[in-house]
Amino acid sequence: MEPLESHEHDVIVIGAGGAGLRAAIEASAKGCKVGLVCKSLLGKAHTVMAEGGIAAALAHVDPQDGWQTHFKDTMKGGSFLNHWRMAQLHAQEAPDRVRELEQWGALFDRTPDGRILQRAFGGHTWKRLAHVGDRTGLEMIRTLQDRGVHQGLDVYMECTITKLFTDGGRISGALGYYRPTGKFVLFRCRAVVIATGGVGKSYRITSNSWEYTGDGQSLAYRAGAELIDMEFLQFHPTGMVWPPGVMGVLVTEGVRGEGGILRNSQGERFMWKYLPEARRHEYAADETEAHTWVEAAVEGKQTEARRPPELSTRDNVARAIYTEVREGRGTPHGGAFLDISYMPAERVIRKLPSMYHQFMELADVDITKQPMEVGPTTHYMMGGIRVEPDTGAATVPGLFAAGEASAGMHGANRLGGNSLSDLVVFGQRAGAGAAAYAMDQVGNPAISDAEVEAEVRDLLAPLERGSGESPYDVHRALQECMDRNVGIFRVREDLELALRELVSLNDRAGRVRVTGSRVFNPGWHLARDLRNMLLVSEAITRAALLRTESRGAHSRLDFPALDPGLGKVNMCVKQTSGSMHVAPTPLPEMPAELKALFEAAPQPAPQPAGKSS
Ligand SMILES: Cc1cc2nc3c(=O)[nH]c(=O)nc-3n(C[C@H](O)[C@H](O)[C@H](O)COP(=O)(O)OP(=O)(O)OC[C@H]3O[C@@H](n4cnc5c(N)ncnc54)[C@H](O)[C@@H]3O)c2cc1C
Repeated sequence: MEPLESHEHDVIVIGAGGAGLRAAIEASAKGCKVGLVCKSLLGKAHTVMAEGGIAAALAHVDPQDGWQTHFKDTMKGGSFLNHWRMAQLHAQEAPDRVRELEQWGALFDRTPDGRILQRAFGGHTWKRLAHVGDRTGLEMIRTLQDRGVHQGLDVYMECTITKLFTDGGRISGALGYYRPTGKFVLFRCRAVVIATGGVGKSYRITSNSWEYTGDGQSLAYRAGAELIDMEFLQFHPTGMVWPPGVMGVLVTEGVRGEGGILRNSQGERFMWKYLPEARRHEYAADETEAHTWVEAAVEGKQTEARRPPELSTRDNVARAIYTEVREGRGTPHGGAFLDISYMPAERVIRKLPSMYHQFMELADVDITKQPMEVGPTTHYMMGGIRVEPDTGAATVPGLFAAGEASAGMHGANRLGGNSLSDLVVFGQRAGAGAAAYAMDQVGNPAISDAEVEAEVRDLLAPLERGSGESPYDVHRALQECMDRNVGIFRVREDLELALRELVSLNDRAGRVRVTGSRVFNPGWHLARDLRNMLLVSEAITRAALLRTESRGAHSRLDFPALDPGLGKVNMCVKQTSGSMHVAPTPLPEMPAELKALFEAAPQPAPQPAGKSS
């Protein structure tokens, strides 16, 4: 085997999005030698795409807000499957983390008296999202990156981690390769923080970037960690459906907040048909009332009118569009029309500049003159690595996780804006947890040479095979399988079919062939990523089969109601004797003082949705 580049650190953080950067800064501040490894360039992580804002009960715009209401909104949004302690810590600590970002240089939009401005968002009772126009994620990444670089982190860019090693059950290191050269690199360490983000690339239509291949969830699972809530995948209702190259790119919720109307191919404004009976009273009764609400919202005036039906919850709007298409009332490219062109063009361009440019440049559609075509897009993974709330510790000693790769915070559905705050609250906690663990260890755990050699052999196999299928064909087949069988609506027969197809796809993935060398070879990278996407797809499908109810983002056509018994458990995925096993595990009991918050006086109706998350 070629000589290996090797590095030694106390803590290795995998992933340089909001969660990874915040974890690395914290571990370094606690005195650890920290290595930060990321698959793309520093500053290019998925977090950079976040638009709408970061949720924190700063109470700058609505002084009635407080952590208790944020906690309650989050638990209700998650159908009470969230880990109560995570929701509590998140609500309590998000304001401090946002103020910290400001102290580190983030320039948030301002109130007239100079404080951080906050905007309304679906599911949040009060105006709660601190933001920087519609590029909050960019400002956040820039701030954290500057802070991290000055903190003295060792950054390994364009480096993909493919395996974690353990010694006597404890984390001992990781192997990766540099994407530009294909050279392998070994990291020896005492603790690893996984902050690798989500899983969207297992689906064809997704708002997620190429990096979201479920690497962290798979690395953790293979090292013996537990995954939970994998059945809960959020489908954002409005992604682009045309042209094919940009299918799934997000269309901000702000379009609907600014008065965007959803219609089917017959011109019907269909969202009224889909409002849940229990909540119908919160929405406008007709077009006139909806229009009055929009006019008042845009001008910042109070009104008695109720909001338009398009501002129903994300899961509901996504299901409605999907149903219209399935029943033959879809647009030419298989979506719904989202129309804001009835508004003055100047107003559309002023309020939705990014959307105007996005459609003009990517689809040759002028949204001031024509409707957009939109459809649901795979957006966010609520499930992931099970962690201990206070420290981010996974169920393997020395392994920690934070951000979208971890689970527990959002339960069955995430509220918009709650991801960016999750990243900094639990990034900070996981960094502190990993540092405390690493400093407590005596001696350096070992990495077995044989295991390293086996991993390298495995990685090189697709390049050395004389024949075999292209990994791109297997990836396409996987995405079609997941879109078709494990999408917004699920039934037992489809899920079982998906499991059978996954067996054969796994077999095909084990025999793929890649031509060319190791030097920047995307086909070779995909051959590796495929294994991870297949693993998380199996976890999603198995957990979805077991959850025989409809809750949050998980809709079973064959089990359309809530099952109170299943409201008390997470589906837990674990490797046992080389096979994947899924079983319900009980949710921790919420303490009485937090339960009492839900018995207090009823809250006002949630704010209408504003900008997208
Ligand atoms: C278009 C869009 C808009 C959004 N807007 C909002 C919003 O306004 N508010 C909100 O709260 N949420 C929003 N979200 C969700 C939010 O942006 C993400 O959930 C969040 O940024 C995830 O951050 P993270 O730190 O967990 O992961 P990421 O930011 O994705 O970072 C993952 C990191 O892991 C690295 N990585 C992955 N695999 C490996 C590997 N094998 N080896 C080494 N490195 C690896 C990547 O290179 C990257 O550095 C939005 C999402 C999208 C798609």
